[in-house]
Amino acid sequence: MKKHNFYAGPSILSEYTIKNTAEAIINFAGTGLSILEVSHRSKEFQAVIDEATALVKELLEIPEGFSVLWLGGGASMQFCMIPYNFLSGKASYLDTGTWASNAIKEARTFGEVEVVASSKDANYTYIPRGWKVAEGSQYFHYTTNNTIYGTEIRRDPEVDVPLIADMSSDIFSRKIDWSKYIAVYAGAQKNLAPAGVTLVIVRDDALGHVGDRAIPTMLDYRTHIKKGSMFNTPPVLPIFSALQTLRYYKSLGGIPELERRDLAKAKALYDAIDSSRLFQGTVTDPADRSIMNVCFVMRPEYKELEAEFVSFCAERGIVGIKGHRSVGGFRASLYNALPMESVQALIEAMKDFEYKH
Ligand SMILES: *Cc1c(COP(=O)(O)O)cnc(C)c1O
Repeated sequence: MKKHNFYAGPSILSEYTIKNTAEAIINFAGTGLSILEVSHRSKEFQAVIDEATALVKELLEIPEGFSVLWLGGGASMQFCMIPYNFLSGKASYLDTGTWASNAIKEARTFGEVEVVASSKDANYTYIPRGWKVAEGSQYFHYTTNNTIYGTEIRRDPEVDVPLIADMSSDIFSRKIDWSKYIAVYAGAQKNLAPAGVTLVIVRDDALGHVGDRAIPTMLDYRTHIKKGSMFNTPPVLPIFSALQTLRYYKSLGGIPELERRDLAKAKALYDAIDSSRLFQGTVTDPADRSIMNVCFVMRPEYKELEAEFVSFCAERGIVGIKGHRSVGGFRASLYNALPMESVQALIEAMKDFEYKH
């Protein structure tokens, strides 16, 4: 049976990515060796990382003056690397969820952190509005897509300090105005590759402004810029898979086409939720709804049917829709690689389940 994969991360990858990765595990670039056993300094792997870097720049339209890095440690490592490299005085952060608050906690080790607003009081079911960045902030940090709660900020905020964003779960779903940013980072396991690599994009001239702070070699972005992400052994296999995904994205027509598909998938599912008798969305204001992670629950009078719906879906090959433990209910992740056909399968399951009850 065909599986419809709604896992939140690690998550669905394109068939193209998986097929080519499987092939390279047997025979990489005609070397007669597996990608798992070749040197990261081989000319064949150098070609992989070079093309992947070039495609990131092309697809995201990254201008001169920015470096694209492939690092280990997950997005969570960036929660500490960002302030290590950029914060010596004060920074402003927006608290829209668990990941945002983890980033805040790490930043406090390095400087003064102003939390401009938080939606924690309502279990992060909305994006706070009307906040102001603290005067004298070196940057403003925010999470574009709150994977756990299903809220998203799809427009680069208008503030008068440089932006830094955790785009782990919605990178490659929209255009980015690079003139506003000094750094963007994304764990690969949501919209790019298997877990193990983090894509980091930093503005070169924003580095080196943290006074006389000593930064450990591995945590200093300049180390990785200087060595083309090869100061130490990079995550070879995830980078190979990332390249396949990037080629696939380009072949589809790049960000505009990906965004068009993502918006259409999200609209179809939210329409189904909104017109349903059993289900309801968890995000208060529809304007804050994520197009990547759709969070919904059973209406209070049907609450006891939630577990049954998960198994009802499993029988149809629909997997990964159980909500995060801090929200409950359901979360359908509609990452770039998820076809509309899978969204239709979920909508049909919702309708059939409703008919049954
Ligand atoms: C998944 C996720 C993270 C954590 O990523 P790791 O690679 O596990 O550290 C951070 N931020 C966001 C927005 C995420 O979705």
